Amino acid sequence: MTLSALALTRDLVAIPSVSDASNAPVSEAIQRFLVQAGFEVERLSYLDHGVEKVSLVGRKGGGTGGFGMFSHSDTVPGDVGWSPFDPVVADGRLYGRGSCDMKGPLAATIAAASRVDARSLKRPIYIISTADEEVGYGGAWQIVRESRLLAENWPSHGVVAEPTRLRPVYAHKGGTRIHVHASGVAAHSSTERGVSANFKLAPFLAEMAALVPLFRSDPRYLNPEFDPPSFGFNMILTDYGTKSNVTAPRATATLGLRNMPRVDMDGAVEHILSAARRHGLEAVKESSTFFYVDPTNEMVQLACEATGVEKPETVSFGTEATVYQTWMPNQVVMGPGDIAQAHTIGEFIDIAQLEASVGVYERLINRLCC
Ligand SMILES: [Zn+2]
Repeated sequence: MTLSALALTRDLVAIPSVSDASNAPVSEAIQRFLVQAGFEVERLSYLDHGVEKVSLVGRKGGGTGGFGMFSHSDTVPGDVGWSPFDPVVADGRLYGRGSCDMKGPLAATIAAASRVDARSLKRPIYIISTADEEVGYGGAWQIVRESRLLAENWPSHGVVAEPTRLRPVYAHKGGTRIHVHASGVAAHSSTERGVSANFKLAPFLAEMAALVPLFRSDPRYLNPEFDPPSFGFNMILTDYGTKSNVTAPRATATLGLRNMPRVDMDGAVEHILSAARRHGLEAVKESSTFFYVDPTNEMVQLACEATGVEKPETVSFGTEATVYQTWMPNQVVMGPGDIAQAHTIGEFIDIAQLEASVGVYERLINRLCC
């Protein structure tokens, strides 16, 4: 049965799957489409604060190696000011939450696979749909650890279908976050009995501000393969809603850096950690790695051939390619839609690009599986 990417995208957008709610209903629809496209489907799930989160691994055809197409089924919140879950087609675009990030790309991979006769497959096609991509990659981690189908055989080649305007991407930045906590004593400010955590944090913050020009200009911290070539160094602050007549008992600065290959990431992080130590503050670091394959990687080159794009690119947003790179060395990030549309009010996907991506994925299936 041949499926339409546009029709599938519309159906999926109409089923809300914001990350903090269950994606079981949208996963049920995806599973149905995968079965119609000739897939055997494995369903995995976990409970996240009592809410069921579902990921799917679909396989079509037998044999070893093969080609995997990876997407997520959760979205960011719908936001106010439009009707995010009523898909609308206008001016060659499909509007709706998740149309671009990334129910449209997921639908395109299913539509492409539906066009391929299972009997012509020498190696398997996989389609993966994960939960919780927007909030920590929980679904991706579950499938790499628990999927029975993937334990039997990992595809040798894969595409993470996040929106890249259908341009092959061989590298993206990762993320490091450092939470720096200051502790004080809460009291009414009229009593002079309190200790403000905010004042304890302040001298540290001044040092962080001084790092901004350093991180933007020192070549040790720049990789010109990326645009922009720098960390996107950022800081947010909270004193957990302390009232203006109370001394803050706790205050936290969270510093963010997007890490890249071939920069002195450890040195940059040490600037922050040593400043925290000097000011007697507690620091907690969490990181996700960057994604990087060589631009001459076979999967990247096949994606260039399939799209007619000469030079693969890099992007600054993160994807689940970082989770899969241990298991699948031949990988590219490539999908229809523009990341500038993701997470916006009025999110849309260009329908011509959506349809073009079906042809691109089908060419890759033919090259790698037939
Ligand atoms: Zn996404």
